[in-house]
Amino acid sequence: IEAIKTSVFESLESNVRSYCRSFPTQFSYAKGALLQDEHKREYIDFLMGAGALNYGHNNDYIKEQVIKYISNDGIIQGLDMYTNAKEAFIQQMNDTMLKPKELKYKFMFCGPTGTNAVEAALKLARNYTKRTRVFAFMGGYHGMTLGGLSVTSNASHRNASGVELNNVTFIPYEDGYINNFDALDYMESLLKDTHSGISKPAAVIVETVQAEGGVYVASEAWLVRLREICNKHGILLICDDIQVGCGRTGTFFSFERATIQPDIVVLSKSLSGYGFPMSMLLLKPELDIWKPAEHNGTFRGFQLAFVGAKAALEYYQNFNLEQTMVAKSKVIEHVLKNEIAAMHPDIRIRGIGMIWGIDFAKFQESDITGKITQRCFEKGLLIESTGRKGAVIKLLPALVIEDALLDKALDILKEAISWHVQ
Ligand code: PMP
Repeated sequence: IEAIKTSVFESLESNVRSYCRSFPTQFSYAKGALLQDEHKREYIDFLMGAGALNYGHNNDYIKEQVIKYISNDGIIQGLDMYTNAKEAFIQQMNDTMLKPKELKYKFMFCGPTGTNAVEAALKLARNYTKRTRVFAFMGGYHGMTLGGLSVTSNASHRNASGVELNNVTFIPYEDGYINNFDALDYMESLLKDTHSGISKPAAVIVETVQAEGGVYVASEAWLVRLREICNKHGILLICDDIQVGCGRTGTFFSFERATIQPDIVVLSKSLSGYGFPMSMLLLKPELDIWKPAEHNGTFRGFQLAFVGAKAALEYYQNFNLEQTMVAKSKVIEHVLKNEIAAMHPDIRIRGIGMIWGIDFAKFQESDITGKITQRCFEKGLLIESTGRKGAVIKLLPALVIEDALLDKALDILKEAISWHVQ
């Protein structure tokens, strides 16, 4: 391990920013829930491309469809042309994920990354309502470009922007309550109190589970009430499902558990199924107000993303991912709540489906999560910390991880935590 670290730290000289510091090795191969480095050491991957690889690295079914498409000289870059690959994806999404759930949305493809789609959602909401303000939640993460950053409440991310990030009002979030203070009551009071001078927002943007914020899961009742407040005040509800969509919480869209329908849904990351760059909006039909040239982007014409995305939807259904996930989620919950939380009264556990957080914020020891993730790396598990001061270890395994690998990863995690927690 030490020799590997020494060689990789040299690459820091030219690589301005990378994971080298926490994972000091060079990765070369990936399959399913596993990564391998050039020294043939195997690591169980609990990062999964920050949620971009829900169906595993190099998923065989999706790979087969992609290879078939390339072998037939399918169009790779199609700008905004209507293509077979785009049509096939739209049809598949409609037939399997929208119509059966009585969801009616139009599709807007946005470019390579999640933050591109967040920009489009904010721009659309403002254009449609002719209002400038947006409400966002404390701890939310929506991307690094100026619009996405404006609704992201993280001081170091925001301070790096170099400009004022305006027209956004933040509402508290963590579990809906801060010291018995109801976040949605606060939001309603802002909306009702005209004396506050806070203009009505175009939209509220929400993650049903704040992932980067430290794995905070909104309750169903909280989400229903948020939808009701938006209805009452004519505010668009934007659900950022970039990280927790595509099955992560146990259903394809994360808002399904609350049976609410957002006005705009933002998807990216695992959407393309294979790690290909892709982002899009699902928008209620009445929001389709764009005129030509009001919003475009070259790489929303990347056809392999459509091919992967269609195959991913097929895979999701044909391999019964929602059913197979239930048992895996229960295993994680059991180990976290009964074995890891039992190690110390200050450890707090949160999560749903296949996203879980272990919160060490109450610990005095500095960088305890850094030490735990380092120990995990040495034992063959890639995992990272997130949330305020990086105090939460976030578990983001592949939805399709084999049971034996999941058990092994949880054993490594248990050992690493017990190593540092007295
Ligand atoms: N929204 C959420 C909820 C995210 O988790 C992320 C990425 N971590 C983004 C937006 C931004 O996506 P990208 O990094 O692809 O621009």
